[in-house]
Amino acid sequence: MPFSLKGKSAVLFDMDGVLYDSMPNHSVAWAQAMEHYGMHMTPHDVYLNEGATGHDTVSRISLRDRGRAASADEVHEIYSYKAGLFRSMPAAGVMPGARETVRKAAALGLQVLVVTGSGQNNLIEGVQRDFKGYIVRERMVTSFDVERGKPWPDPYLKGLEIAGVDASEAVVVENAPLGIRSAVAAGIDTIAVNTGPLDDGILMAEGPVLLLHSMTELSEWLDSRPL
Ligand code: CA
Repeated sequence: MPFSLKGKSAVLFDMDGVLYDSMPNHSVAWAQAMEHYGMHMTPHDVYLNEGATGHDTVSRISLRDRGRAASADEVHEIYSYKAGLFRSMPAAGVMPGARETVRKAAALGLQVLVVTGSGQNNLIEGVQRDFKGYIVRERMVTSFDVERGKPWPDPYLKGLEIAGVDASEAVVVENAPLGIRSAVAAGIDTIAVNTGPLDDGILMAEGPVLLLHSMTELSEWLDSRPL
């Protein structure tokens, strides 16, 4: 039977690459920051690590490129440097189709939450402005709210707790392999929206219930799939 929203009462949106077209900026910022510290990150690496906290990303690349884990101080310094580069870039736009999707989800009676591995305050603030009336900070899970980020299930479990629903009553919208893995590990039906350069197969391997290619496509899908 094709996937539907029957029985769902909350939708948990990832942020980067779902609500915002921010991944190109993240790719450039990560590449420049890693270069600055003698490591190397391609756009493919950035998309494969997307969803993980900055801490986990720096640790993983340090192990790979330098054969050793980064110290807590190094991780902090490198992530701060990357975050500074990201902030200095022109603001990423709202992903085409994202506003319509959020509005339609709310109109269907679904609770709307955001679950992100991001610790970029400018984006976290921006969400409340750009999706005013639909998303508030109290209904966002960020890297400040959990110890273990994606791909651990913790961020999505925290989202369920805030929404006050069981996993079976929720649906997640994610664009990244580690994000899908986190949501699936939390037991939540996950819609993959492949807005980046990775092959569909890399996202499908994480077990989403559906794969689409843009938020506009998801917005159109919502028109045809009432609860
Ligand atoms: Ca994402």
